[in-house]
Amino acid sequence: MICSKCGSDRVNVQSEQISSKTKKRGTGCLWRIVRCILIICTCGLWLLIGRRKGTEKTKIESRTVAICQNCGNRWEV
Ligand SMILES: [Zn+2]
Repeated sequence: MICSKCGSDRVNVQSEQISSKTKKRGTGCLWRIVRCILIICTCGLWLLIGRRKGTEKTKIESRTVAICQNCGNRWEV
């Protein structure tokens, strides 16, 4: 993958979780950081556990985001 802005091939592709409904509940950015660590530590297993909890109220969306390591340009894949 090549950055559309600067043409660098140093692009980091990662999956980003968006939770539009829980965002407004105000769980705080600390919880988001903890959740990110948990996802990394469990190799993504935490997402399955987190999804099972309150699936009725929490709508979890995920998108793939590419981040250029050269110029910092972000775009959705
Ligand atoms: Zn770039």
